[in-house]
Amino acid sequence: MAERYHQYAASSIMEIDLDALRANYRAISCQVKPAQCGAVVKADAYGLGACRVVPALQREGCRLFFVAQLCEAISIEPVLGPDCTVYILNGIDPGNEAVCADRGFIPVINSALQLRNWRTLARERGQALPAALQVDSGMSRLGLPAALAADFARDASLRREIDFRLLMTHLACADDPAHSANRDQLATFSSLSALFPDVPRSIANSAGSMLAKPFHCDAVRPGIALYGVDPGPGTASLRPVVRLSARVLQIREIVAGTGVGYGLTHIAPTAQRLATIAIGYADGWPRSLSGIGAAYFEGTRLPIAGRISMDSMTVCIDALTSQTLREGNFVELIGPSQTLADVARDADTIAYEILTRTGSRHQRIYSEQGDIEFINPGDLM
Ligand SMILES: *Cc1c(COP(=O)(O)O)cnc(C)c1O
Repeated sequence: MAERYHQYAASSIMEIDLDALRANYRAISCQVKPAQCGAVVKADAYGLGACRVVPALQREGCRLFFVAQLCEAISIEPVLGPDCTVYILNGIDPGNEAVCADRGFIPVINSALQLRNWRTLARERGQALPAALQVDSGMSRLGLPAALAADFARDASLRREIDFRLLMTHLACADDPAHSANRDQLATFSSLSALFPDVPRSIANSAGSMLAKPFHCDAVRPGIALYGVDPGPGTASLRPVVRLSARVLQIREIVAGTGVGYGLTHIAPTAQRLATIAIGYADGWPRSLSGIGAAYFEGTRLPIAGRISMDSMTVCIDALTSQTLREGNFVELIGPSQTLADVARDADTIAYEILTRTGSRHQRIYSEQGDIEFINPGDLM
């Protein structure tokens, strides 16, 4: 697709297939029914652009959104329908409670201090305030210890001041379905949730949504699976959402023994043809792919030669017959020849990190039901 928009294009293009996003939402919704399927759109919808992702998901019926921070909730506010609910997973930083309440976002209360501050505001306003309560069922990251949450469950005045809308926990090992921690966390959470009989429950992220029914509870919170990455082994078939491509800046031939790039870490073993590509670590393309990863052109693998620079990298194009690849052509970095998971593996990281680092320096092309929207680098809102 990148080739077609050649004349408008910046040096690199990120294509976001909102139809695929919607299909993934449908697939997960189907899998977890009758549980409600929410969507985690923190970190600008994992780098895909929350103000495009949130409306597309609403058109697919999603009304339940999760962000990490208050500022992320505020930035999607203009695109939220009146019947949407937004939970703030990290809770509210001290001092921001009133802003959160005024705007109608719901904090996830993780600590005793967050609870105290929210309760103080409820008393000041003389009205119950909505909240989610997160319980630490064994991950030791966010949430109240189960024993403390149990004390709060029995505190009648608290229950009048705070309207618990969701009881939450998060799994540490959901991507390993056989891991005993999943059962242990479920058991801890289930006994606690009995103390909150009328409060809807939520355990599962993407990987948890692929686990057995008891993990789906009343609502699930997928993120990465919506964006097309299989969260674990043997899961729903998801469509890739993102493609990334960048232009050839220059083509050259070097003789055996010539060094390439910073530090001259690649020395050509024989004469080689090279192409310099307009993508580097400032575009979120991991520097750890130096000498390891590849770009693709029409399905042919073009291995990265030497270090990745800030704005460019060099690939060996000996696998192509000469004149096939020209300056200005686009090579594929993420797409049918090389998935996000492939890139993550080669970069020794996870797809989450690749996506969230990809950044705003690419031209973006959003497509949905035949409509195409172009956004120039840096213009994303
Ligand atoms: C980020 C996050 C999710 C989504 O996780 P994925 O693995 O991307 O599906 C769900 N719940 C919580 C609490 C999170 O922090």
